[in-house]
Amino acid sequence: MVKSKLLRQRRQHEERCKRCAGCCYEKIIYRGRVYITDIPCQFLDLETRLCRVYSRRCHENPHCTVVDAAVIAAAVLPAQCAYVSGVRHYRPPRSWLELPARVRKKITGAITVPLEGSVRKK
Ligand code: SF4
Repeated sequence: MVKSKLLRQRRQHEERCKRCAGCCYEKIIYRGRVYITDIPCQFLDLETRLCRVYSRRCHENPHCTVVDAAVIAAAVLPAQCAYVSGVRHYRPPRSWLELPARVRKKITGAITVPLEGSVRKK
């Protein structure tokens, strides 16, 4: 009974996702702000916009995580994300195109070791 309720809640939580893939791009933290890049996760299918390893994504990509309150608080989800719609005072990541070109170049060359950290989701 409890297990079926948890499964139902989990399914309802997952159903909120619009499958937009907006969160499936590398993010970096630069000077305390989260920026989202246009570098997709290696497991994102760019045609379908779906994760190719969704059921085992957190195993395949240790940076991937299930959306929860901590992820929302970390402000790594894009503005169009269904999970942050209606979250008051939410500050979505900025586009990394707002960063100086020299910083973007540095990041692109070292994306596996970002400047101050990286978070990936889904
Ligand atoms: S940004 Fe939000 S709605 Fe879009 S795929 Fe990611 S979790 Fe789902």
